[in-house]
Amino acid sequence: MLKEKLLELRQQALSNIDSADELKALQEAHVRFLGKKGPITEILKGMGKLSKEERPDVGKLANEVRQLIAARIEEKKTDLEARLLDLKLESEKLDVTLPGRKTVPGSHHLLASIIREVEDLFIGLGFSIEEGPEVEQDYYNFEALNLPKDHPARDMQDSFYITDDILMRTHTSPVQARTLEKHKGVGPVKIICPGKVYRRDNDDATHSHQFMQIEGLYVDHKVRLSDLKGILTVFAKHMFGADREIRLRPSFFPFTEPSVEMDISCFRCGGHGCNVCKGTGWIEILGAGMVHPNVLRMSGFDPSEYTGFAFGMGPERIAMLKYGIEDIRHFYTDDIRFLKQFYRA
Ligand SMILES: [Zn+2]
Repeated sequence: MLKEKLLELRQQALSNIDSADELKALQEAHVRFLGKKGPITEILKGMGKLSKEERPDVGKLANEVRQLIAARIEEKKTDLEARLLDLKLESEKLDVTLPGRKTVPGSHHLLASIIREVEDLFIGLGFSIEEGPEVEQDYYNFEALNLPKDHPARDMQDSFYITDDILMRTHTSPVQARTLEKHKGVGPVKIICPGKVYRRDNDDATHSHQFMQIEGLYVDHKVRLSDLKGILTVFAKHMFGADREIRLRPSFFPFTEPSVEMDISCFRCGGHGCNVCKGTGWIEILGAGMVHPNVLRMSGFDPSEYTGFAFGMGPERIAMLKYGIEDIRHFYTDDIRFLKQFYRA
């Protein structure tokens, strides 16, 4: 009786498996025939009730049937999976003729590009790059630069004070003082210092409470004003065109003596006069001068042995002149329509 039942179950199971056309049907067949409550398990559980003669035959057959069904389910499963994969591949064919999606490449901010351009030039001239803290001590920001407390020139650089002695630096010059100090009176010192600076100013088209500066410093034996003029000429030609000329006008800075303003011949009109140069043929670019002996002395250099020059410029001003930008606030508001115009700048 049990043998016949087993053979019948085998028949049923195999035909069930053969006709299954999805994985779910196979799973159901597995539960139905081989599950813990399935007929074959029941038969195997009830073996104890059989006579000794019957037991081996029925047991053997039950195991055979179970293994056969399990093997057939596995076989069919592999089959079905392969077929489903084929179907999926067929329906999800890749159309390589479709146009690709463009990724927008990022680029440097215009100010970063200008700074890099200046850095590249000066590195080529043997300068190295120095950086310093934006939160600075009064000593390095003013006193070490020949701007003692109550010096009237401090008024032009009103800052954000954190304490009486700590402030947001108003220029990158403290990096010069710090670097000179590190050299302990032994030259040469040949650096440029780019970075952010802060002044208490009302923001408008040409003023910002935060802006960038790049300063340069060259201290060595026998550095002369003519060396400064040479370097600035190279700079002007590099940034604004090979036929630029420069002129130096006397000026005043507490940390240099003599001090000069550097103008370049107008790159728009070539010097004839236009609205960029306000009809003068010259455009003011930067301030410079020979390092004041007091500054050298305060930072540990002997002014009878060493001389040097320093200059400072605003990357914003250079970018505004070079690209005809009318409002300094464009640099900081990060309007993508503005930034996009300088992808290759
Ligand atoms: Zn002009």
